[in-house]
Amino acid sequence: MPYKDIPEDNMIICPHCGQEVPHKNRCPNCGQYLPRREKKKWKIPKMTPTEIFLAILGSIMLMVGLVAF
Ligand SMILES: [Zn+2]
Repeated sequence: MPYKDIPEDNMIICPHCGQEVPHKNRCPNCGQYLPRREKKKWKIPKMTPTEIFLAILGSIMLMVGLVAF
């Protein structure tokens, strides 16, 4: 098999043909364009509303502090 040397984490399931294929621009099995890797997606840390409020409050305080100086 030509794809033997490709590590397993580089394999994705093609949404078009359902085959496990190496992640490339296009599926080598059906030729359809493959979706971009989910892994590289920017992860937003899960924050509670209180944490978000405190973060906003903190940045406001910092801005006020910078303006005051
Ligand atoms: Zn395919």
